[in-house]
Amino acid sequence: MDRPHLTQALARLRGPDGPELGCDACFEELDRYVELELAGEDADAAIPGLRAHLGGCPACREEHESLYALVSGEQKP
Ligand SMILES: [Zn+2]
Repeated sequence: MDRPHLTQALARLRGPDGPELGCDACFEELDRYVELELAGEDADAAIPGLRAHLGGCPACREEHESLYALVSGEQKP
């Protein structure tokens, strides 16, 4: 009998049709996601599920906002 990974179990708790991405995966991809956003690329297509996770996870949304502000500040000419 397989035990589901904790992150998968937690992701399931967020809703039956919730994002497949857990907080760990979200954190891992957040750098790349923000860079794609700032580059004008389709970040949602490159990393599916992350936007949905941000919508349902205040902690990751806050992390995204501060990372976005940090990276966009760094890229100012
Ligand atoms: Zn999260």
